[in-house]
Amino acid sequence: MPESSPIRVRFPDAKELVFPAGTRAEEALSRWDPMQLKNALAASWNGVPVDLAFALPTDGDLAPLTFEDRAGRDILQHSSAHLVAKGLVETIPGARPTHGPPTEEGFFYDFDVRPLTPSDMDAVRAVMDRAIRAREPFVRREISRADAETLFASNPHKLRYIAETPEGEPVSVYDTGSFTDLCRGPHVPNTGWLEGIHILGFSAIAQEDPSAPAIQRIRGVGFPTHADLQQFLKMRAEAEARDHRAIGTKLDLFSFVDEAPGFPLWHPNGMIVVRELEKFIREHLEEAGYLEIRTPLLFAQSIYETSGHWEHYRENMFLTEDEGRVFGWKPMNCPGSMLIFRSRARSYRELPMRLAEFAPLHRMEASGTLHGLTRVREMVQDDAHIFLTEEQVEAEIRILLAWVERAFSTFRLEWNVELSTRPAKFLGEKETWDRAEATLERVLKSVHATYRIAPGEGAFYGPKIDIHVRDSLGRPWQTGTIQLDYQIPLRFGLEYQGPDGQLHHPVVVHRTILGTWERFLGVLLEHVGGRLPPWLAPVQVRVLPVTDRHDAAAQGLVEELRSAHLRAEGVGTEDSIAKRVRNAEVDRVPWVVVLGDKEVADGTVTLRVRGSRETRTYSRPEFLAYVTERIRRRELDP
Ligand SMILES: [Zn+2]
Ligand SMILES: [Zn+2]
Repeated sequence: MPESSPIRVRFPDAKELVFPAGTRAEEALSRWDPMQLKNALAASWNGVPVDLAFALPTDGDLAPLTFEDRAGRDILQHSSAHLVAKGLVETIPGARPTHGPPTEEGFFYDFDVRPLTPSDMDAVRAVMDRAIRAREPFVRREISRADAETLFASNPHKLRYIAETPEGEPVSVYDTGSFTDLCRGPHVPNTGWLEGIHILGFSAIAQEDPSAPAIQRIRGVGFPTHADLQQFLKMRAEAEARDHRAIGTKLDLFSFVDEAPGFPLWHPNGMIVVRELEKFIREHLEEAGYLEIRTPLLFAQSIYETSGHWEHYRENMFLTEDEGRVFGWKPMNCPGSMLIFRSRARSYRELPMRLAEFAPLHRMEASGTLHGLTRVREMVQDDAHIFLTEEQVEAEIRILLAWVERAFSTFRLEWNVELSTRPAKFLGEKETWDRAEATLERVLKSVHATYRIAPGEGAFYGPKIDIHVRDSLGRPWQTGTIQLDYQIPLRFGLEYQGPDGQLHHPVVVHRTILGTWERFLGVLLEHVGGRLPPWLAPVQVRVLPVTDRHDAAAQGLVEELRSAHLRAEGVGTEDSIAKRVRNAEVDRVPWVVVLGDKEVADGTVTLRVRGSRETRTYSRPEFLAYVTERIRRRELDP
């Protein structure tokens, strides 16, 4: 086809225009709608992201990509990663860039380089600022494999990527000023688009091969404008003000001591919240026919050798030695559940067998990563192991996804789903993995879940569906997980007798809904700014007598509420009524009841709802019915 032959291009509004072949995407978009081009940082050509400079080769569909599109956001993040690489290579000339993908948070770029310092970051920022002001274009070049190998001869990481490029696919590089990086693209048109870049931090990343030097990772986030970045920084500051560690202290929920780093001390108020979360999950367990078990916290090494944890997870386990044997504190509940299944002969009639366990787990997290309740060394999961026949898997996963929806919508947390596939180190056969991954994907499609695929992020024994919630500040958190496992049951020699009279291996689903109480509560406290929903609040109703004369009536009301299983307390008249109302707000008590002459005479209560200045008067029975119903329905707001 000669260069100038006409092509038909269709736009999102179904309008079609004719251009000479080779017209750049940018040019075609501006002819279609110059306004739409304004925010476009790249384009989508037949559903595939391309540079705005991309030359349209044939008939096809063209659409602008902006920061609002997931693909557009990823392109801006990834382009920002390039800018960081340019900054680092100019700062430390021997630095070898490896790769710089977009992430949930923003992006990172990994470097094979000496350990980084804060002053390196200052230098990187200076280079980036210069490049942003110079609006250096991202220029794509397709080069031969041999030329690419020469260009990146001193960088074994890039040489590996070049070798991995499929035959027939061009090797492309992008220049920004004097910096050249191997990359498939696409990118934003020029570095002027990256004015909202922000370096979040840097750290060393250990490699799988322990003898290899650590990779240095720079993490960052990009926004289309400097104003968007300012908005993000403001929101982050707000998030810090909502830090669950401070809230936990203020509400007397939990604490930590240096003598047990990463091990929460649960105070009485904290235990109330944890027990309520547990009750919530237990309701699910009863409805769906789970059975509860309790298995040891310590097992001898051989059990973990069987489960695979010894090979794949030992560095995260606390070990202890006694009677000449090495014992490991269990990091997960799986082994105990397997042993209970194996304790006697099983029939297909018992399946699905759903064994739940709420046992403390111990994981040796690096001290630098510990963070309040969201990263701890001792935790309790709302854990269960479900033993199934192959045919039962899909229906069970559907039930679990419905629960996930119910659980997270109770907390008004948005959630999304990631399908994590086979990691580099895995147990079993590729074919089994492919089948398991296909099963999970089929279920996700059948319930119309929106999900993204996280390649290589699966557990060592099987693929999984990970649930990420977003809190009110827009931050993603991994909570629940649904893992499909064909390996551990095999390793434990689990069998059941099928309807055919033969012995078969069950499939195991490892699953949690909220994840761990610790992390979930940490996220929840920040999500609601410490204003726990009434059903979780350590004190649900605080009763305030106006003067001493109303003490007896207040005490009577507290007793009445308590006998209706509400968590109520009275606060006497040492402080003024105004001060006591303020304190109740500080303590985040959902309902505050004031009793004065009129209320005592009429048998009523005057209610103040948390977060509102309005007062309402109820008869005592009405009040009791009102709060009881809101708690029963687990409403988020009082
Ligand atoms: Zn790139
Ligand atoms: Zn498990």
